[in-house]
Amino acid sequence: MERRSDVIVIGGGSVGVCTAYYLAKKNFQVTLIEKGQICSGCSYGNACMIVPSHAMPIPAPGVIKKSLKWIFKEDSPLLIRPQLDRQLFSWFLRFAASCREKPMAKTIPILRDLGRASLLLFRELAAAEDLSFDFKQRGLMTVYSSTAGLEEGKEEAELLSKHGLSVSLLTGDEARELEPALNNTVVGAIYSDEDAHGSSFQFVTGMGTVVKNLGVTVETDTEVTGWLIDRQTPFGVKTNRGDFYAKEIVLAMGSWTPILTSQLGVRVPVQAGKGYSMTMDRPSISPEIPFIHAERKVGVTTIGNRLRFAGTMEFAGLDLSLNKTRMKSIQKGAAEVLSGPEDPSNVEYWCGLRPCTPDGRPIIDRLPNYPNIYLSTGHAMLGYTHGPISGKLMAELINRETPSLSLEALKLNRF
Ligand SMILES: Cc1cc2nc3c(=O)[nH]c(=O)nc-3n(C[C@H](O)[C@H](O)[C@H](O)COP(=O)(O)OP(=O)(O)OC[C@H]3O[C@@H](n4cnc5c(N)ncnc54)[C@H](O)[C@@H]3O)c2cc1C
Repeated sequence: MERRSDVIVIGGGSVGVCTAYYLAKKNFQVTLIEKGQICSGCSYGNACMIVPSHAMPIPAPGVIKKSLKWIFKEDSPLLIRPQLDRQLFSWFLRFAASCREKPMAKTIPILRDLGRASLLLFRELAAAEDLSFDFKQRGLMTVYSSTAGLEEGKEEAELLSKHGLSVSLLTGDEARELEPALNNTVVGAIYSDEDAHGSSFQFVTGMGTVVKNLGVTVETDTEVTGWLIDRQTPFGVKTNRGDFYAKEIVLAMGSWTPILTSQLGVRVPVQAGKGYSMTMDRPSISPEIPFIHAERKVGVTTIGNRLRFAGTMEFAGLDLSLNKTRMKSIQKGAAEVLSGPEDPSNVEYWCGLRPCTPDGRPIIDRLPNYPNIYLSTGHAMLGYTHGPISGKLMAELINRETPSLSLEALKLNRF
């Protein structure tokens, strides 16, 4: 078997498959290595929203205060499991420093531009590659069940409008008129018409097939365990299925990225933010427009003939155990604002690890002391949305082209 290529991409999630795609389109010989199956990581069970309007980063003024009342409660939207972990501690210090007006104002246009550029690429890919992933552009509603919540939402909407995002404020009745699946609990909503949605699993696995057809070698059930290095220069990777060689190597391993970079003595401040989803057969009343119940931080999306509730953020390291209390809190948070939810049938519970940076921006860069090793990680709540543009930017970086969007604010050395 030929185990030599121009570029190895590690990680078969939305970021990895899109990176392999845009590299293959530029005629690089690519090997995509995935420890499980394509789309078995965080890209599998997410809320499937493609959302340029989600430009508010997690670290924002007021978040620390709000989080303090939540963080040790089992059923809260944010949970931190106390751990003696120096990396996590220093991550939180950086996170706290980012919860200010100035860093947030810097991050909003960056996330907006990444989101908008990616949405255009989703459209292009859906047409050019004949991908079938139930892609729809029906916007996104953020719905509020309390007047206090709605007041906060209005402030957020004003800020997003100042940054050129198309958001409008709806009364409870207007929200129900637009989306009849919402019940009378909803007192108002913010609607963004430019957002879209579509099955993340079908998109990522579909792209897995597309890249194979473009000549990418896809190695699944193959776990990268270490580096092959000669005089400070990595020339390949060790895996449980033997060695693979390449001139350049991209780490698109989501939350697992720091495991490999630490072997090179490089610290990458990415922490896993665990989230849950619950997916069931589509009931008779099911929203056509995806929405987020703001107070509960739960997203609700109809994907084909299934309905998904998704949410919560838990910092507990690389732990993939399912916590029943947190799963129930998602179901409760969605049911509170949905019209007549029936008993769910054919339910699948899932959790995944969002790769989170302390400032809410991804890292798309080459490693400072290892110019043939590249990072594309830290996409947090937006890794499905930002998959295509991240792949395109990485291919441009490796091809030494001027990137379509500036990479300056996405560099590792900002930490
Ligand atoms: C509940 C929830 C809801 C979400 N909703 C949305 C949403 O609506 N919209 C949105 O844009 N984003 C959403 N996200 C975030 C999004 O899912 C992630 O940001 C995105 O999946 C990250 O993609 P990735 O490719 O970086 O990582 P992953 O999908 O995790 O892929 C990384 C891959 O690397 C592989 N890997 C790791 N280590 C190794 C190794 N040593 N060797 C080989 N392979 C390895 C893993 O198996 C994995 O498949 C949500 C996340 C959660 C948890």
